[in-house]
Amino acid sequence: MWRTAARGSADDQGLRAVGEVGVPRRVPGEGNVNREVKLRAELVAVGERLYRAGLLRAGEGNFSARLDAATFLLTPRDCNKGLLQSWELVRAPLAGDLPATASSEGLLHQAILRTDPSVGAVLHAHLPWVLRALGCGQGLSTSALKEAGSLRLVVLRDLPPGSQALAEAAAAAVARGNVLLLPTHGVVVVGTSVQEALWRLETTELVAFVSQKGVPHV
Ligand SMILES: [Zn+2]
Repeated sequence: MWRTAARGSADDQGLRAVGEVGVPRRVPGEGNVNREVKLRAELVAVGERLYRAGLLRAGEGNFSARLDAATFLLTPRDCNKGLLQSWELVRAPLAGDLPATASSEGLLHQAILRTDPSVGAVLHAHLPWVLRALGCGQGLSTSALKEAGSLRLVVLRDLPPGSQALAEAAAAAVARGNVLLLPTHGVVVVGTSVQEALWRLETTELVAFVSQKGVPHV
């Protein structure tokens, strides 16, 4: 934002004034606005990327990102994430009731972000190779891929989607892992940023693929 400023004045919120006209200065709250715009764009990009990769179909998956100490952004319910618009993302509180338009897994996102302040983003998807690996009982082996060394996999109990029980189990498990495997359901991946969570999610799917016995690797 541009403001006229008196010569020599300073602004604790932004840049020191160096002239009399046209001095770029920040205003309180402007940083938060920019952060929200950036996070909305990142979450939209995640939806497009995963949809094009065939890792999301129909209304599958849900994403969230921490906005500040009290709020986070969350995908809406009944929405194709490949066609997601930034304005459709729901702003939700870290404590208290979620908006009616919030994702059906909103409790899970809220519980994780509230429990662990180091988590900046949460991504949930029904990854096909992960579901196949879990369904076949073959599991996932991070030793199958060198780049998977930073993944910490935790298998949760099979709990109903959207339930308080799943939200509580996932929030507790984040202390032990950054990739939560949900039998018959998919994965929940956390990261300090949207980019880190996306890297972990895509790597987990590759790990599931190369972990499979009897599948020709490419
Ligand atoms: Zn799901």
